Amino acid sequence: MFKKILIANRGEIAVRIIRACKELGIQTVAVYSKADENALHVQIANESVCIGDNLPKDSYLNVENIISAACLSGCDAIHPGFGFLSENAKFARMVESCGLTFIGPNPDVMEKMGNKSYAIQTMKELGIPIVPGSYKPVSLEEGLEISKEIGFPVLIKASSGGGGKGIRLVNREDEFEAAYNEAREESIKFFKDDALYIEKFVKNPKHIEVQIMGDKHGNCVHLFERNCSLQRRNQKMLEEAPCQGISKELKNKLYECAVKACKGVGYDSVGTLEFLVDSDENFYFIEMNTRIQVEHCVTEVVTNVDLVKNMIKIAFGLPLAFKQEDIKLHGYAIECRINAEDIKNDFRPSPGLIKFLNLPGGMGVRIDSGVYPGYTIPPYYDSMILKVICFAKTRLECIRKMREALEELIIDGVKTTIEFQYVILHQPNFVLGHYDTSFIENFLKELKKDARFI
Ligand code: ADP
Ligand code: ADP
Ligand code: MG
Repeated sequence: MFKKILIANRGEIAVRIIRACKELGIQTVAVYSKADENALHVQIANESVCIGDNLPKDSYLNVENIISAACLSGCDAIHPGFGFLSENAKFARMVESCGLTFIGPNPDVMEKMGNKSYAIQTMKELGIPIVPGSYKPVSLEEGLEISKEIGFPVLIKASSGGGGKGIRLVNREDEFEAAYNEAREESIKFFKDDALYIEKFVKNPKHIEVQIMGDKHGNCVHLFERNCSLQRRNQKMLEEAPCQGISKELKNKLYECAVKACKGVGYDSVGTLEFLVDSDENFYFIEMNTRIQVEHCVTEVVTNVDLVKNMIKIAFGLPLAFKQEDIKLHGYAIECRINAEDIKNDFRPSPGLIKFLNLPGGMGVRIDSGVYPGYTIPPYYDSMILKVICFAKTRLECIRKMREALEELIIDGVKTTIEFQYVILHQPNFVLGHYDTSFIENFLKELKKDARFI
């Protein structure tokens, strides 16, 4: 097994990965920016190295400094977590060329599936349903032409996009040019890439994704689905597994497509295929995340499989320790992402000192956190500070447990999304499982009618 792993990330996911390494008897090296000197991941790792200034480009995206830190501290592998360099095939190649292992899929498959428009082309060749669109990057003129052909509304999407960034909805022809330019600018800013593609806008879909795991020996299994339809501005807020309210037949089709895709491209790590499902149960592949995901925890608690530990073992070259029939669902799980954001101020980030923190606990309550009382949340990074994951035998029990967990969760000093999540958990349509990706935007419109709340 690996002797020492560098974790090229921060926050709760860095903490999560360090925990997995500890369980596997692997030493850990945390990296941090100047602003993160006192961060939790730095405190719990065996060693730590400062890799640069506060802005991500100077630290968590600073490829040279990260690889030098790994070499100088005697690491044999790098885990990228999510965001930052996690889907950067060039980085993965550099890591490998320095004699280290990149903990993720091999760079060739990452290139093919990490880029969204390439992945769509690959899926099309494999016969997996995709949303009508350009299937490849297009210029403004080409994009407009295709949009007229498939019919508005359409989405303009960044090929390198992630985290809901670089996506614009276009309802009418005369809005196309401005939206294209906005998406292009956002994509350059966040992903240093101006490639954009077009997709037909699917009305009120559910976002259902399938977790898969492949090894370097041609084995591949799925670990069922997650419903991630509760999103604000195309960014997930609350996820659950398994999905309530879609047929068993559809689920089986999604699993089948996911495993076929994984085997078809020789995928050799944990990964996720994201699908949109419309009200008639038509389904379309939209993208693959070639990394561990934020919401991996709900799958872990319902299947009893540690995805992060397995990801490390696969990268080392071990074959999967289980077959498809060994993976079973044991109940229901929900995850609430807790962000330091001001819900009364359009969810603007709310960094600052955490004066007091009370975390919930008890059976079936898991907390993956990157913060502690007395910690100051820096303003330079993502505003997600912790995740609450609840697990129970039935979905209703799980919802109740999450409500109670959020009642116990107290964070003083910064504004958070706790109350917003709490109110969602009480909405009848959420309780019934009757929701799609339009739920939160519609719900916010309702809430805004009452100035007392938001
Ligand atoms: P998931 O599919 O795991 O839910 P998200 O889309 O929420 O992933 O992204 C996870 C985190 O990584 C978020 O903090 C998001 O802002 C960030 N992120 C996602 N993709 C990228 C990317 N390509 N570059 C930089 N950050 C990204
Ligand atoms: P990211 O890489 O930022 O996660 P995705 O392509 O996964 O981007 O899309 C993010 C979200 O945007 C989806 O979960 C869905 O809610 C919405 N979305 C994406 N494509 C479409 C589409 N063609 N029609 C309707 N909604 C879409
Ligand atoms: Mg996505």
